[in-house]
Amino acid sequence: MKSNMACLVLCLCLKERANLKNRKMKIKIFPFNPLQENTFVLYDETGECVIVDPGFINDDEFKQLESFITGNSLKPVRLINTHCHFDHVFGVNQCREKYALQWEAHHDDAFLVETAPSQGAMFGMNIAPIEPPEKNLKEADTVQFGNTTLQLFHVPGHSPGSLCFYDAGSGSLIAGDVMFRGGIGRTDLPGGDYNTLISGIKQKLLVLPEEVVVYPGHGPTTTIAEEKINNPFLQ
Ligand SMILES: [Zn+2]
Ligand SMILES: [Zn+2]
Repeated sequence: MKSNMACLVLCLCLKERANLKNRKMKIKIFPFNPLQENTFVLYDETGECVIVDPGFINDDEFKQLESFITGNSLKPVRLINTHCHFDHVFGVNQCREKYALQWEAHHDDAFLVETAPSQGAMFGMNIAPIEPPEKNLKEADTVQFGNTTLQLFHVPGHSPGSLCFYDAGSGSLIAGDVMFRGGIGRTDLPGGDYNTLISGIKQKLLVLPEEVVVYPGHGPTTTIAEEKINNPFLQ
């Protein structure tokens, strides 16, 4: 009888642990367009999802995103941007229309939306005019979807309105172009500032738990610990 009870308790514990595991936010990465910009779909066990930095530039790339969403029975409920450089906004209009979403980004980057078509043209990429974000996202906000709540960090310096999205539950940071594996975002573009960027990263990002996985706007993932030790800009 005693061992049956013990077994039942153990089973319940295992079940609880499995539930916790299922409860974690998941992240799908799509490197899109010639600049290999990372577009993300964040989703959890409720099936609700958030599209971050829609950078697809043609139907083929859009279909990759769409079939992932359909194939996993996900429901897009938010459309958010880490920042508004042209390579991160190519797909904004199509996401707005297809999923009936309002676009959310920091208003300090609104001026970049206006110049996105001309910036894209300089790289030989055609991009239709994009209306400014419907909603202003700021550091004091949270982004909620399903059972997930993202915390926001405003880290200007690469662009004035750069935001990082942090999910403490899964230990994940969507960093945009603020920080890369072994690098930082360039600071020579309009509104950029080197010292502001470095101090923002040190004060807001490097204080996160060391095991947090960082998902940059380009290139491979990394961790807070790895960047603390190896990133030459952050020593
Ligand atoms: Zn950028
Ligand atoms: Zn970028």
